[in-house]
Amino acid sequence: MRKAGLITGGALTAAGKAIHEGMSTLELDKIIHDYIVSHGAKPSFLGYAGFPASACISVNDTVIHGIPSSHEKLKKGDIVSVDVGAYIDGYHGDSARTFAVGEISDEARALMDSTEGSLMAAIAMAAPGVRIGDISSAIQEYNESRGYSVVRQYVGHGVGRELHEDPEVPNFGRAGHGPRLVAGMVIAIEPMINQGTAQVKVLSDGWTVKTVDRKLSAHFEHTIAITRDGAQILTLPE
Ligand code: MG
Ligand code: MG
Repeated sequence: MRKAGLITGGALTAAGKAIHEGMSTLELDKIIHDYIVSHGAKPSFLGYAGFPASACISVNDTVIHGIPSSHEKLKKGDIVSVDVGAYIDGYHGDSARTFAVGEISDEARALMDSTEGSLMAAIAMAAPGVRIGDISSAIQEYNESRGYSVVRQYVGHGVGRELHEDPEVPNFGRAGHGPRLVAGMVIAIEPMINQGTAQVKVLSDGWTVKTVDRKLSAHFEHTIAITRDGAQILTLPE
């Protein structure tokens, strides 16, 4: 799973380096696809439930599951959430980051910082004996105390031979509840955090998830392994 995780993290870093004003989200998808394939892996998302691309690319008010398109061009000031999975030797990695296109507003930066900060805080507390609800409530509290809202309909998950496995890892919940983490588990923690309302809607393409108030949304995700000494992030770049 380290191998799958490194390729996933590397693909995201390659995406981040390539992002520039005027590029289409389909061009960005191709860079990610080529990185994964050139490292001997398969893009986990390509063909998953019929998804037509290698990465989910979600701009501004798109929360997740944005479909890369030659018509959608990145503009200065956009924030773009890129979600990637790589499959190799029978296992998946799954990771997401929100990137800035050029200079962005202070409000957009603060939303990204809160989302990523809550992910890193959750990872820092993940260890054997900790309950899923402890992680869920920590992410919720971190973001709501900064004035943001937590998307309810989509959650983190176990990762392994399948891209999405049990247990569910919600970004909201009650401390002291839910299954306990044990050494050897691998989970993806992935806060999806909105600037305005938590409400989202799925567009008629069946994939694209947007905020109903058109305000910004950010998404950060790592696949982590629970060890006796705490969590190790598998989806960092090499
Ligand atoms: Mg993902
Ligand atoms: Mg995931």
